[in-house]
Amino acid sequence: MKLSLPLLWLVILSILFLEFVPPASADDAVPSDRVKIDVSIRERPERNSPRLGALRPGERAEYLGSVPRWHKVRLQNGKIGFISKGWTRIVPTGDSGEFTIDILDVGTGLAILVRGKDFALIYDGGSNDDRKLGKNNRFLAYLKAVAPNLKTIDHVVLSHPHQDHVELLADVFKNYQIRHVWDSGKVHPICGYRALLTAVLSEPSVTYHSSLHGFTVEIIKIGKMYCRPNHLPETVIKMPHGSRISAEPVPLGEGASMTFLHSTVQQKKSPNDSSLVVRLDLGKHRILLMGDAEAGGRKSPDTPPKAKSIEGLLLACCMEDLRAELLVAGHHGSLTSSRKAFLEAVGAKIFIISSGPTKYGSVVLPDEEVVSELKSRGKLFRTDFDDEACRKNPVKIGSDNDGKPGGCDNIRIVIKGDSALEVKYWQGSD
Ligand SMILES: [Zn+2]
Ligand SMILES: [Zn+2]
Repeated sequence: MKLSLPLLWLVILSILFLEFVPPASADDAVPSDRVKIDVSIRERPERNSPRLGALRPGERAEYLGSVPRWHKVRLQNGKIGFISKGWTRIVPTGDSGEFTIDILDVGTGLAILVRGKDFALIYDGGSNDDRKLGKNNRFLAYLKAVAPNLKTIDHVVLSHPHQDHVELLADVFKNYQIRHVWDSGKVHPICGYRALLTAVLSEPSVTYHSSLHGFTVEIIKIGKMYCRPNHLPETVIKMPHGSRISAEPVPLGEGASMTFLHSTVQQKKSPNDSSLVVRLDLGKHRILLMGDAEAGGRKSPDTPPKAKSIEGLLLACCMEDLRAELLVAGHHGSLTSSRKAFLEAVGAKIFIISSGPTKYGSVVLPDEEVVSELKSRGKLFRTDFDDEACRKNPVKIGSDNDGKPGGCDNIRIVIKGDSALEVKYWQGSD
């Protein structure tokens, strides 16, 4: 059928409109690293469309959304145009808060970046299904995308040595100056943990803290193992030791501290039971990071926590210290954690679950009962939405369209003074 010209335009415009994806939040488009001179901004999303302007390296344009192969942007002069996705990346608009907390979508795992004006902290960095290292390490790609000027990471906290918390961390030491490492002290013979300890040892400027003895040197024995691509011999790591982790708040920067609410000197059978539970005090706001702390076996949220579980111990020792506005739920939203009695003591109204599609034992987390319980108490944000579509996403953080579930549903918390926490999803590219 032959369409009249106005009708044809109507069809084209409606196709563009239908495929137009608005941005998740306030973001900017910036030239990608391979842009040497500039990248054109066109009037329409077509190569031959008139040029409205250009972005040079170091310049930004407000990101308004995307259509196939093009980002829609607003220039400094207010004009609206289109810029090629192949030559740009999307980054969050410059830091506008005093503190920013990013929960990265690393597939099935946990990775958190906390920044103030004068410090940066990482809490965990691992994945069970998105474990490419080196230049394909999605955690590194995320750090570079959201904080391109970051050189020093003051604190790296490893809640416990499971692959989904540690595997991506060692690479961070090759790219940033690290000042302090906080380790549960639980020795678990897996490649990521071994690589982390080796990285710490190779950087004399790092101060290593753990829950263990606090002797000058910590002796850590790790058996032989196969870690891609090498067989590694048995090793004894003699770690020069800083302070033992205590309940005293650790100053982070202006108006900010972290307090370890749980650490244990005992070598628990399950690494989860050694999880370092950290409360961040950022201005007047409190955020609770649970790692994989548990309350007992897989039981309904109605069940009281077992007395010797981390939730049970915290309820017995530290009710007042637990109060927080935002809770990053323990163990990826599993029925092993987040019991009603514990949630009541924390009193949070905002919850975050970091999880993905890979099974833990026989289950994919989070568990629906925990999701419902958290939703009944406030707002819930999750990193595991769209995991299947995310595998083929052509524009995400880190390697695109790589078959992996990570890189799409990142969560950002911004703190501005005493006003309420701002929490939003952030979906960008690099
Ligand atoms: Zn975990
Ligand atoms: Zn774990």
